[in-house]
Amino acid sequence: MLPHTISEIISGLRDKQFSSREITQDYLTRIKRLNPELNCFITITEDLALSQAEQADARRNAGEASILNGVPLAHKDVFCTEGVTTTCGSRMLEKFVPPYESTVTRKFMEAGAVTLGKTNMDEFAMGSSNENSYFGPVRNPWDTERAPGGSSGGSAAAVAAGLCAAATGTDTGGSIRQPAAFCGLTGLKPTYGRVSRLGMVAFASSLDQGGPFARTAEDAALLMNVMAGHDPMDSTSAQNPTEDYTSALAQPLTGFTIGLPKEYFSSQLNAELEKALQEAIKVYESLGASFKEVSLPHTELSVPAYYVIAPAECSTNLSRFDGVRYGHRCENPKDLEDLYQRSRSEGFGDEVKRRILIGTYALSAGYYDAYYRQAQKIRRLIKNDFVSTLNEVDALLCPTTPDVAFKLGEKTSDPVQMYLEDIFTIPASLAGLPALGLPCGFKGGLPVGMQLIGNYFTEARLLNLGHQYQLNTDWHKRSPALGE
Ligand code: GLN
Repeated sequence: MLPHTISEIISGLRDKQFSSREITQDYLTRIKRLNPELNCFITITEDLALSQAEQADARRNAGEASILNGVPLAHKDVFCTEGVTTTCGSRMLEKFVPPYESTVTRKFMEAGAVTLGKTNMDEFAMGSSNENSYFGPVRNPWDTERAPGGSSGGSAAAVAAGLCAAATGTDTGGSIRQPAAFCGLTGLKPTYGRVSRLGMVAFASSLDQGGPFARTAEDAALLMNVMAGHDPMDSTSAQNPTEDYTSALAQPLTGFTIGLPKEYFSSQLNAELEKALQEAIKVYESLGASFKEVSLPHTELSVPAYYVIAPAECSTNLSRFDGVRYGHRCENPKDLEDLYQRSRSEGFGDEVKRRILIGTYALSAGYYDAYYRQAQKIRRLIKNDFVSTLNEVDALLCPTTPDVAFKLGEKTSDPVQMYLEDIFTIPASLAGLPALGLPCGFKGGLPVGMQLIGNYFTEARLLNLGHQYQLNTDWHKRSPALGE
């Protein structure tokens, strides 16, 4: 039986209960058994993983093991990996083998971690259900008829199904927190700029942020210790010093004040999920935290503002995929016009095209002021709401999603319904704030997630809040059955 958490793997490796090669092999065997159904991985890097594991074992035997040495992880296929296909879930990049390594994956390699493979995702990270992947949908291990969430659905499902100890993801408007909620995991979207974007295929550059998926806040802290930090190669990377994310975990919560934004406890929130959140509030109260109702009045404007800003940024970011500079090229083009047109028509899926159209429209000369500028003004109002509220409280507690995982196919015919799924995750993204998602109950056998939003660069405090909760609850310890 595979260990669950990174912490368990670290101690197992240290105490020589197993080698990195053995545990890597166990994960690869499990991936081979379960991936055909779950579709979590686009690429399985078996040879790379085994050779990295052997090197990790050699380092350990030589007394040179750093903390994550030999720990098997998976990476969202949005991170460029040198010599390993990086598709971003798109036909456009189906054959793209990057000539360089993203900062995030490079840091994990330098920390001695093992790469099991690249995980499935919505095309160019656009989606909330992983149904927009060119490589087919991912299935939620808790109920394979349901979506794992998106866009980092492959990473979330892989961790939940025990196909890797933990994984990386990216979050532009909720793509770490929402799949973490649907799959019963702990996922952190760091402050914008905390984790380098170098080598992360861009969707909406002012929002994109990498972060960890793990089973526990403690594991997420271990991953953040590797991922976080200034990168001189990313001009939007934050210069602020990082913290030791594990050392704050043990702090008691006495004297903490947590805000409950009333707009998040609205009719959009399913009643059973609200009950689970009320139980979580009681746990925090028993740990010494106090609660206070707060208001974020512009919350309802966040989805419309996001669905102007994100498509606008994606329309410019994705212009490079023209079959000449980057990406899929059509066969036998008649002329240059035909080359562009057919390469892009064939390479992109429907949702990506929809967003390029929306974004191009919103940025066009006659409409820029009416849409893009307005959306940016709303973004500022949303940020101001958070900034003044977070002056009064240490963090905010709220739902991550309106309901638990929905059925595959349930929302695909109505993009607006799909966009509304993001109502509770998008506001923190627009404000650039860190937010931690973690499991806080079950509804009909499906995990329920809650979200803790903090002030800028308070990841350590959020992980502290998550860890203390997990010391007193066991939602995070449950696993889907998967024929075992
Ligand atoms: N669901 C949102 C979207 O489709 C968020 C995606 C993300 O965070 N990458 O844009």
